[in-house]
Amino acid sequence: MADKLKLEKSMAMYEEAQKLVPGAVAGIRRPYNFVQGEYPIYFDHGKGGRITDIDGNEYIDFLCAYGPIIIGYREEEIDHAVQEQINNKGFCFSLTQPQQNELVRKLQEVIPSCEMAALVKTGSDATTIAIRVARAYTGKTKIARCGYHGWHDWCVEVKGGIPEKFYEDTLEFHYNDLDGLETILKANRDDMAAIIVTPVGHPLAAPVQMPKPGYLEGVRALADKYGALLIFDEIRSGFRVSLGGAQQYFGVTPDLSTFGKAMANGYAIAALVGKREPMMVLADKVFLSSTFFPNTDSIVAALKTIEILQRDKILDIIKEKGDQFGIDVQKVIDESGLPVEFSGAPWMPFITFSKDETGLYKKLRTEFYTQLIRRRVFLQPYHHGYICYRHTDEDIAYTVNAIRESLNELKKLV
Ligand code: PMP
Repeated sequence: MADKLKLEKSMAMYEEAQKLVPGAVAGIRRPYNFVQGEYPIYFDHGKGGRITDIDGNEYIDFLCAYGPIIIGYREEEIDHAVQEQINNKGFCFSLTQPQQNELVRKLQEVIPSCEMAALVKTGSDATTIAIRVARAYTGKTKIARCGYHGWHDWCVEVKGGIPEKFYEDTLEFHYNDLDGLETILKANRDDMAAIIVTPVGHPLAAPVQMPKPGYLEGVRALADKYGALLIFDEIRSGFRVSLGGAQQYFGVTPDLSTFGKAMANGYAIAALVGKREPMMVLADKVFLSSTFFPNTDSIVAALKTIEILQRDKILDIIKEKGDQFGIDVQKVIDESGLPVEFSGAPWMPFITFSKDETGLYKKLRTEFYTQLIRRRVFLQPYHHGYICYRHTDEDIAYTVNAIRESLNELKKLV
């Protein structure tokens, strides 16, 4: 039996924050997304593949800041490049610095669908401008969507504060279901501006899904058939599944795609990339501008991150680590005989519990993630994890063993 963590400082800071910030901390970082009372709420620092909370507990981190950490925390080469830009040039101006062109040339070089790019700050910026471009280019209105695309009005799941008319033209379909998608397209055949889909399926609190053979090709063909643009939301898969994104790995090229998260190892930057013709609506018809979009701190970080990913073949190494982790975890799960599912290997590992009518899976999930965090492995019960380059073989072996021990603790519940 592993002991409960000491979290006094986290809890005290959380109590104070309740009076300062509505909900104390933002959205997905709130305690109910973990196991309340068992997980820390505030981190102090991180290095490599590890993080330390404000009570001094150190964890192997498999959430990787929800995706941006692709190499590791406090990656010195990247931080130094940013510091040099800050010290020698500055990074926030009324006009654009030359690094914009350099980064877009790099994106052109590595991403199959990238003939042109627009740099923004967040994934939500990128997906929102993607659908605006698609609507302006096609002159049509409706969007078929599949996956989480951010917090903006057209796509956010929690609808508080959003008039219905803002999202009534957004139609949801299920991943890996071509028939369901075609039903939507048929019913709206003259008005489909775009299909936006994450190339890897990652619904909340459910197993990660890889595309079935022919699925992404099928979505591509349906987009063409119904005159809609195909947008890949590569915010999670970009700079992780391969340097050119999942579109490169699976060999299906969208018209537009969005990148963010891992692009700069934690610095705030995202991009809409795509074919020249639709992208050119941004030159005159479609407005895109924001105070911080051109800032070069994160552009320099992206350039350095991509350089390191290419130079050190980081994504091949992450894939190897993730494949091995997948094999080892699956073995442990098979041995346990428990109703557990492992998905998302090699890039987005996720341990979920098979749903049952009695709701036992919820108890198992809570107990499992409690046992795991007590063993200082940081994973989220409702969201898949990520592998980063700085996870060592020892970290992975330790984690596999922690998963074995945690599953063993569940046997008393079934
Ligand atoms: N698309 C996908 C697939 C995402 O996972 C996310 C963020 N989790 C977004 C878009 C939105 O990105 P951001 O949180 O940077 O706005």
